Amino acid sequence: MTAMKIDLFNIASFRIDGGAMFGVIPRVLWSRVCSSDENNLIVLTLRSLIIESGGHVILVDTGWGDKQNEKFFRHVYLHGGEGLSGGLQKRGYKPEDVTDVFLTHLHADHCGGAVVRRKGGSGYEMAFPNATYHVSRTQWEWAVKNNLREADSFLEENILPIGQSGHLSLVDEEGELFPGFSVMICYGHTPGLMIPIISYNGKTLVYTGDLIPTVAHIPLIWNMSYDIESLKTIEEKERLLREAYEKNYILVFQHDENVECCNLEMTPKGIRAKDRFSFAEIL
Ligand SMILES: [Zn+2]
Repeated sequence: MTAMKIDLFNIASFRIDGGAMFGVIPRVLWSRVCSSDENNLIVLTLRSLIIESGGHVILVDTGWGDKQNEKFFRHVYLHGGEGLSGGLQKRGYKPEDVTDVFLTHLHADHCGGAVVRRKGGSGYEMAFPNATYHVSRTQWEWAVKNNLREADSFLEENILPIGQSGHLSLVDEEGELFPGFSVMICYGHTPGLMIPIISYNGKTLVYTGDLIPTVAHIPLIWNMSYDIESLKTIEEKERLLREAYEKNYILVFQHDENVECCNLEMTPKGIRAKDRFSFAEIL
């Protein structure tokens, strides 16, 4: 089998309320580790993984996409990054080359780029025409049903076309989905959030997604107020961080403006980041 190829790139950065990103943690504490602007907004990235393994070309998460109107994006303050197709193109991939789109969950900043407006017509089409779209069964059923609490994040135009495409594949359980690519399923942030755990060149990489969005979210109670069930998030982080610390995994952050990766150490306060480094240093 040929070796895995993997890379990480930022689709775009955006701004979001700092208080909402840190839940019950007071601003006097989080502002020491995360800078905010005059409107209390902080910057998050949208990093995606592109992986070649066992004949698959796998894209992990797709950013916001561009289907919503100008008013919607005015609140998101998109800036910087390589773009979704730009980042792929720079690494030698056309949209048709992607065989699998892995969506950690269906919140708009993670799945929006999977579906585009149909060129020269009405309606929508898949951004990656040859890809199978992987979503956990729990998340799919939860998002389609929708709920008031997550309604701003579960947008019909991002979700329903995936189901109608005939290219949706539902993931039922944890374990290996592609060669060297396993999945942990979580329920605290949103039911059925999938966390990829990837074996690469003797190392184990965890793409922590919205379970641990930035390095500042490693302490167990530093969690987003977006989480549906905080206590589950705490349990899931505890389980993942313990295993990651014991087995020397590398955490890869989707949303951290400044830190792409870290390893872990045990401190009197619990498990914390040890060394912070770029993804390129892993390769
Ligand atoms: Zn989310």
